[in-house]
Amino acid sequence: RPGYTARAIVGNERADAVGFDLAMVEVLPTADEARVVGHLGPDPLAADWDAAEAARRVGADSRPVHVALLDQRNVAGLGNVYANEVLFVRGILPTTPGTDVDAPALIDTAARMIRTNRDRSRRVFTGDARPGRGMWVYGREAKPCRRCGTLVRGGALGARPTAERNVFWCPVCQR
Ligand SMILES: [Zn+2]
Repeated sequence: RPGYTARAIVGNERADAVGFDLAMVEVLPTADEARVVGHLGPDPLAADWDAAEAARRVGADSRPVHVALLDQRNVAGLGNVYANEVLFVRGILPTTPGTDVDAPALIDTAARMIRTNRDRSRRVFTGDARPGRGMWVYGREAKPCRRCGTLVRGGALGARPTAERNVFWCPVCQR
């Protein structure tokens, strides 16, 4: 990724992790860590990943499922690109209440997407890693759906008016 998109580099003697295009960075002493991450839900990249618990939390959340997926108390690590792409792949409208979706299937797909993309420099959801081909709907408002040709729609959803995120969906493929 271009260096100018890097926002933070966190490293130790074994590895460096670069955060690109980060919306928010908070630096704090280790002793205060629990205050920030103590509430996190199951993490698909953690050794103790609990898919059933993540599905239970998302499936019990009556807010729009796009909002439920981004709430890190339900499942940790899913960003806005993942929420948009996994909802397309599962054929779910972003406004559908979390209580009305097949949460175990949704969480299973999301976890597989995160693991598949973990070691790639660029996230790919379509299976086509060529530049500009990797996303189904994210950032593709008014472009033809890659599956059915209908124009992709764009909007915003959020838990609060100050926390709205860009949402993209195909009105035919996602019901
Ligand atoms: Zn479509």
